[in-house]
Amino acid sequence: MGKIDLKSITLEELKSLFKNIGEKEYRADQTFGFIHKNMCNSIKDITVLSNGLKDKLEKEYTISNINIIKRYDSKIDNTKKYLFLLEDNNIIESVAMEYKHGLSLCVSTQVGCRMGCKFCASTKEGLVRDLTPGEMLSQVYAVQLDLNTQVNNIVLMGSGEPLDNYDNVIKFLNILHDEKGKNLSYRNMTLSTCGIVPKIYSLADENIPITLSISLHSPFDEVRKSIMPIGKKYFIMDIIKACDYYVNKTNRRITFEYTLIEGTNDRKEALEELIRLLRGKLCHINLIPLNPIKEFDKNSSKMTNVESFKEGLNKHGISTTIRREMGSDINAACGQLRRSYIEKSYKRNINSLVR
Ligand code: SAH
Repeated sequence: MGKIDLKSITLEELKSLFKNIGEKEYRADQTFGFIHKNMCNSIKDITVLSNGLKDKLEKEYTISNINIIKRYDSKIDNTKKYLFLLEDNNIIESVAMEYKHGLSLCVSTQVGCRMGCKFCASTKEGLVRDLTPGEMLSQVYAVQLDLNTQVNNIVLMGSGEPLDNYDNVIKFLNILHDEKGKNLSYRNMTLSTCGIVPKIYSLADENIPITLSISLHSPFDEVRKSIMPIGKKYFIMDIIKACDYYVNKTNRRITFEYTLIEGTNDRKEALEELIRLLRGKLCHINLIPLNPIKEFDKNSSKMTNVESFKEGLNKHGISTTIRREMGSDINAACGQLRRSYIEKSYKRNINSLVR
């Protein structure tokens, strides 16, 4: 059996691990701080532990790491896209975006995705595997180390469906929030889902006040089903009910993402139905002009239509923004970078590519 990754376990678990091997509790606190504050990637680097204890730990435990293969810097807006190599040679991507309120990191939760949304590049080869909490944390720490700064917000909008990797994602958020680690407020975390309804209820019951973001993309089940297979399993009204429960439980405003696809979900009837569906709710709408991918033969709605959606929604008191396209010069929608990179260079010796 492989070694257990100390980066993937909570402080509570680390404490019981230390207790079981006859070590003092404060040693677990120190170790946790070394991994999650100092961001160290080797048991050897935990200088507060004796050499004897480090040798003992190394027999059964490890600290996982990921390596930057390549960083793409946008010349337009300072966005940076990272390609990371995992220990099993899988590749994922993360995107660091600079906003007024600090650095936001778009984190991947799975290698690939099995949700099959027609317009999304991340799902084209299905799900390869779930990421561990350590691998999600490593994306944050690798970027912090690379840019020598703190990540202030994380959004789970990279590849993968976070609620399809539920336990690992919750653990990741919990570790990131721990005051003995990175100590990031739950308010600075956003989880985006295509709408796995039972898991929305579970998330509400976790009592962690993160922002929930729902990829709605149509107010009509028939249209939604045609672009998002998950729409066949869970209907829009089920999602809305789950969102109401989430708002009641957490008092947090929900975001609905709406990718505008020309001729598919951008007609006047869709706008009217969207207003009917969401008017009066504690929510915000994020309109996203479609980022075209080669496997999906549709265009983004015209900007004038995107604007008129915004105006129409605002007129009915529904807070709406248009998502600014970030890093448009360094390869578009999430998942595209990884795919084009794999297509071009997977046959080469991947280890020689690590920066
Ligand atoms: N699995 C999660 C995270 C996906 S990525 C989810 O479904 O929410 C974050 C957002 O980008 C989602 O709303 C997703 O539907 C959207 N998206 C994916 N590909 C896109 C594309 N090519 N153009 C515009 N939006 C896209």
